[in-house]
Amino acid sequence: MQMQSKRLKFIKESNGAHWVGDGFPVRNIFSYDDIAEEISPFLLLDYAGPRDFPASPGAKKRRGVGEHPHRGFETVSIIYHGEVEHRDSAGGGGIIGPGDVQWMTAARGLVHSEFHGPNYTAAGGPFQMVQLWVNLPARDKMTDPRYQAITSSEIPRVDLPGSAGSVRVIAGECLGARGPARTFTPMNVWDVSLSPGSPTGFEVTEGHTATFLVLEGLVKLGSDPVGEAEIGEAELAVLEREGTRFVLEALTPAKLLLMMGEPLNEPVVGHGPFVMNTEAEIREAIRDYQSGKMGRLD
Ligand code: MN
Repeated sequence: MQMQSKRLKFIKESNGAHWVGDGFPVRNIFSYDDIAEEISPFLLLDYAGPRDFPASPGAKKRRGVGEHPHRGFETVSIIYHGEVEHRDSAGGGGIIGPGDVQWMTAARGLVHSEFHGPNYTAAGGPFQMVQLWVNLPARDKMTDPRYQAITSSEIPRVDLPGSAGSVRVIAGECLGARGPARTFTPMNVWDVSLSPGSPTGFEVTEGHTATFLVLEGLVKLGSDPVGEAEIGEAELAVLEREGTRFVLEALTPAKLLLMMGEPLNEPVVGHGPFVMNTEAEIREAIRDYQSGKMGRLD
């Protein structure tokens, strides 16, 4: 089979920093507002931290964001440092820590809260997480909400050839290891660690989106000595749809979040926490939230 190299489409930096509630100092790395076509089936990525929070033993109120709705997509929270407690009106909830992932399918709608966990609130220390929004195809936007709590020990880690590093497979499949996350459309979400000095090829299904966020370190894209581009911390590389393979080489020890998936090719109409296909569906979502159809936390 002919392996055609996937080329860089562009490198993107954060759209700017803001706080989500008082718990999550995020940089918005991408959003369907600016690059909906290029990143489908992914919608948005907020990168929180890295930042140190002080120890707050006996705090009466924990940091975070209280009850708010979502409809039409999934939120995927990947914790690197710190601890997050989640609770939703569909009965999902729990506390996740370093290496854990919560994959919440909002679908037809729920409300939830997201706070720093109790132990982390008391102890303080480094906080680092990603929240990725994954779109649902139109046919599944109004399906039942669902919650997948995925602990670190459930996520298989596979070594890359040539001591190039390792991949924790959250969703999809890498070198025969299958990630635990159930998804509605084909995708790969991998937590990748790369060691310098060993270029590694990654294969992608023809026509799929491929993008990665560098969390730490410096990574070179491309197999020739100069490479096509160098991608640094908090930068997102978006590759062209064409081609089935790309090569990465860490120039320093690096961590990245690699996201690949089948584009949905459907209209994206969003308003705050709702992402649907038409304006009428957005108006319906607002009405349904206001009338309590997405539930309440008590
Ligand atoms: Mn939320």
